Amino acid sequence: MSRSAPPGGPAPTPWRGVSFEERMATVDFRTGARAHITVDSDVCRSCTTRTCVTACPANLFAPTADGGILFNYEECFECGTCYMVCDNEGAITWTYPDGGDGVVFHHG
Ligand code: SF4
Ligand code: SF4
Repeated sequence: MSRSAPPGGPAPTPWRGVSFEERMATVDFRTGARAHITVDSDVCRSCTTRTCVTACPANLFAPTADGGILFNYEECFECGTCYMVCDNEGAITWTYPDGGDGVVFHHG
């Protein structure tokens, strides 16, 4: 069973019909020194769904040849989708970036 949204987290954004390039053009990223999301690739090796790979709107999860997952937090939308769809306890540790870091949405 999937988890609920991270505490205080936003509802998932409906990305269907929006191209990857269009998504990325809506934001800038202020990359923090601290990874606000970490992925335990050892836990991922037992995962049969790899749901995060297709669910992440920023394409930040990539399967590795040894069965693990390569993850990069730097262009994260902070949507919480990966945390909600992952069924494996301990695979994803999810927090928000530190103040002033993270995604910046364009307005207008
Ligand atoms: S993060 Fe979760 S859904 Fe993604 S591969 Fe690891 S265990 Fe599977
Ligand atoms: S919170 Fe970040 S890493 Fe997780 S699905 Fe959203 S964009 Fe991808």
